[in-house]
Amino acid sequence: MQALAAVDSNDARDGAILFGDLIGKLDDRRVSCDKCGRFGRYPVQRLINDHGRDGKIVDWLDQITADCPKKSSRSWSNRCGARCPDLPRVL
Ligand SMILES: [Zn+2]
Repeated sequence: MQALAAVDSNDARDGAILFGDLIGKLDDRRVSCDKCGRFGRYPVQRLINDHGRDGKIVDWLDQITADCPKKSSRSWSNRCGARCPDLPRVL
């Protein structure tokens, strides 16, 4: 996380990772959730077509996990843990 802050300390992105950041680094955006066992694979090019290069991955994650049974859990420790296992590797 330290590296991310150093890379981008400017403007409106608020430190968020954007789809544009994935261009040339990944073909597929993988998402997995330990809590509900879901696993998805999303072509980066299609995500950019749908959300634009400036789309925030965190917002998109919120959308695709909206139906996760753990998403609305009141218990923080039992909440949906969907995340992108590739991100630390490519950024
Ligand atoms: Zn989940």
